Amino acid sequence: MKPERVVMLADCQSFYASCEKADNPQWETKPVVVAGDPERRSGIILAACPLAKARGVTTAETLRTAFEKCPEAVIVRPRMQYYINVSMQITEIYRSYSNLVEPYSIDEQFIDVTGSQSLFGTPLQIARSIQEKVRKETGIYTRLGISYSKVTAKMACDLWAKKNRDGLSLLCKTDLLEKLWPMPVNKMFMVGNRMTAHFNAMGLSTIGHIAQTPLAKLKQIMRQKFGKNSDIHAEMYWRIANGLDDSPVAPYTHEQPPKQVGHQMTLPRDYGKLEDIKVILLELSELVCQRCRGIGLMGGVVSVGAMGANYDKPTGFHRQFKMTDPTNVTNQVYDAAVKLFMEHWDNSPLRKLGISLSELSNGEQYQVSLFDDREKFRALEQTTDALKRKYGNTIIMRAVSVTAAGQAIDRAGKIGGHYL
Ligand SMILES: [Mg+2]
Repeated sequence: MKPERVVMLADCQSFYASCEKADNPQWETKPVVVAGDPERRSGIILAACPLAKARGVTTAETLRTAFEKCPEAVIVRPRMQYYINVSMQITEIYRSYSNLVEPYSIDEQFIDVTGSQSLFGTPLQIARSIQEKVRKETGIYTRLGISYSKVTAKMACDLWAKKNRDGLSLLCKTDLLEKLWPMPVNKMFMVGNRMTAHFNAMGLSTIGHIAQTPLAKLKQIMRQKFGKNSDIHAEMYWRIANGLDDSPVAPYTHEQPPKQVGHQMTLPRDYGKLEDIKVILLELSELVCQRCRGIGLMGGVVSVGAMGANYDKPTGFHRQFKMTDPTNVTNQVYDAAVKLFMEHWDNSPLRKLGISLSELSNGEQYQVSLFDDREKFRALEQTTDALKRKYGNTIIMRAVSVTAAGQAIDRAGKIGGHYL
C-alpha cells in the first residue's frame, strides 16, 4: 500500500503589506496598508498588516474609511512586480523541502512532503522548519494547513491554521467527522455567499450535511434548482465535503510540461476603461511569460478570458489567437492579448481577467525568424529576468510601467486583487 500523502498549503499572512514591512524595517511597529491613490483617499485597501487589522482596517474598504479608524497608518502603493519576485523567492524555499511545489496564488502554494519526511522529520516539524526559514529569509509569516490532499490542506489552512497561535493545523482523514463536518457550509472551500444561500435553502447548512447526502440525491436536489448541467457541480461539492481529492501537487517540470501556463486576476473593483484594463493585461502577460521563460517553454496560442462584473448574469468571453511562431516574450504576448481583447470586448465592466499560453513547446526548438526582433527581445528579457532573480526588486521597470500605463496604475490605484 502506498503511504498516505502529506500535502501542505502554505499561505503568506497579509502578503503585500508584509512584503512592504519586510522591505521597510522602519515600519515594523507601524500599521501599514497597501492601497492605491493615497492622495485622493478614494483608493481601495488591497492589504493591511496585522497591526492595521487590529485597528479595524479591512481589505476592500476605501482609504478614507481606513483613515478614520487608523489615522497614523502608513499608506503604500502596490508594487506588484516586487510581490511576484518575493513570491518566487518563497517558492524556492519550499523547493528546498520538496520538488513537488505548486503555486496556487501569489501568496499560497501547495507542497507535497510525502517523500521528504525521512530527511526533514514529521509533517509538523517540516511545517515549523518551513515557517522559520521563510520568516528568516523574507520576513514573511506563513501559515500552513497540513493534510492528506490539496483540498483538505486548503481548508485546514483557511479554517484553523490562520487562527491558531502557531499558524499550523493538521487535518487527518479521521478528523473530518469531528472537525470539518460541524462547520457551516460557508466555510467550505469553493462555496461563496451565493452558494451558501442556495445550500441553506436546500436545508444543507453544514459541510457534514453535504458530505452525508448520497451523491445521487445531492445531484437530484441541485438539478431541481440549477438544471441537469449542475451534476458536475454537485459532485464537486460532495467530494470537497468528503475530503476526496486525488489531484497531485503538480509542479511545472521539464519531464511533465504543462498543457498551458496561465494566470487569472480577480479585480478589486469593476474595470471599464481600456487604459486600466491594458495595465492588467500587461501584468498578466509579464507573469505568464516570466513563468514560461523560467521553465524554458514557449507558447503558440495566446488566450484571453474576461468575466463581467455581474456574476448572476454572466458576461464575458474567452478567445484565443494562434501566433505565427511560438513565443514567451512579454511584449508579443501583450500585443496579441490587447488585439484579441479589443476585438471581443463589448465595453461592459469587468471583474476578472486571465491570460494563458498554450500549445507549448520547448524554448530552444523554435524557428528563428529573420523578420522581427524576437532574438533581441529574448536576450533582453532573459537578462532582466536574471537581474530580477538576483536582486529581487523593482530594479528594472518596464518603460510602460513608468510612463503611460504607470500613470494609469496610479490613477486606478487598484492593480492587483488576487491571483487565482
Ligand atoms: Mg494570504
